[in-house]
Amino acid sequence: MNEVFADRVVMGSEDRLAEMFGGSLGEDGIKFSAGNPNAELFPIMQMKKAFNKAIEKSGSQIFEYQTVSGFENLRRRLAQWAGQTADIKAVADNILITQGGQQALDLIGKLLLNAGDEVVVEAPTYVGALSAFDQYDPYYYDVAMEDDGINLEQLESVLQAHPNIKLLYTVPDFHNPTGVTLSLNKRKKLVELAEKYDFFILEDTPYRDLRYKGTKLPSIKSFDRHGHVLFVSSFSKILMPGLRVGWVVADKEIIDRLRKLKTSSDLETPGIVLAALDQYMEDNDLRKHIEGMLQTYRSRLDAMLAVLDETMPADVHYTRPEGGFFIWLTLPEIIDAQKLLSEICIPKDRISFVPGKVFYAHRNKKNGMRLNFSGVNEERINVGITKLAKSIRTAIKA
Ligand code: PMP
Repeated sequence: MNEVFADRVVMGSEDRLAEMFGGSLGEDGIKFSAGNPNAELFPIMQMKKAFNKAIEKSGSQIFEYQTVSGFENLRRRLAQWAGQTADIKAVADNILITQGGQQALDLIGKLLLNAGDEVVVEAPTYVGALSAFDQYDPYYYDVAMEDDGINLEQLESVLQAHPNIKLLYTVPDFHNPTGVTLSLNKRKKLVELAEKYDFFILEDTPYRDLRYKGTKLPSIKSFDRHGHVLFVSSFSKILMPGLRVGWVVADKEIIDRLRKLKTSSDLETPGIVLAALDQYMEDNDLRKHIEGMLQTYRSRLDAMLAVLDETMPADVHYTRPEGGFFIWLTLPEIIDAQKLLSEICIPKDRISFVPGKVFYAHRNKKNGMRLNFSGVNEERINVGITKLAKSIRTAIKA
């Protein structure tokens, strides 16, 4: 049967995402495996008004085909937003609006990668980026993550050994899956390396504005002088994922090429959604909305760190993020997180997490796990992590 499908399907890009979601937990199971924002925080009423107003203003015209890159007014707004929140100098022509950040990752893969082209990814890295790039059949070089982001010595030796590397993919702010933030110094150094070895950096930043503690850092893109950095962001985590709106900031030459690829892919992001989003941003203060969410997420993060500190054995390590949605937990190497999940945590404890293997390009490490704190309330975080710690202790002793 496989021979009827194109190689990119058979290669298994679907598997990476399918592998993430273990079995079913039942009604009162506790899901640390999700990556969703808290739906109770969605500004439903304001968004409903914005949709109505957008329709009233433009009538049937808003349901026509629109422009590929997205309305100029919204792109201007996003250029301003990139200036205010990420210190990026951009104008509307530097912006392409996409269907979520995920489409931006796919289009950038399509733009840059021929089969066999070399890409550096963090180990671990965002599984959705791997599944997007997989379709173009690149070769991945892994570089380890440290507490302050990618290991630069290791990166430079990979770059020296492989001068044709085209792309580095990084999630610098509250990384998915580890929660780690790239230090200021490393941000500057990455741009210097991109200039020296001539490769693109894809800076993927959906969690950037969700900082609960510590000091805000400038984006990598803000240090970019010669167009090496392609900055991607999204409304999924700061507003609502169902809008499916993301955007790319890059040199106009890159944006023009990405626009052509987007035309072949979907013609445009739905105009009605973009008009409503533009209206929402006109009538509401998006920064205030984000600030309103921070307290909820901060308490959940603190609750999870506190119960991890209380319950985990000494040979289990975990990150201490300052924002985002995830904590990364490292088990002793003899323990396979996938087995722990499917043999104990799902059937007995009815809790779930994402086993670490899917986040490695070469699926070569099995003792990590991603824990989501944003979607679970404090009480359930306490119950769930206490159960998890107990099961980990049992597995270590076995
Ligand atoms: N990049 C990262 C690091 C993510 O975590 C996600 C969502 N999980 C995305 C991109 C894609 O998000 P969306 O398409 O909803 O914008």
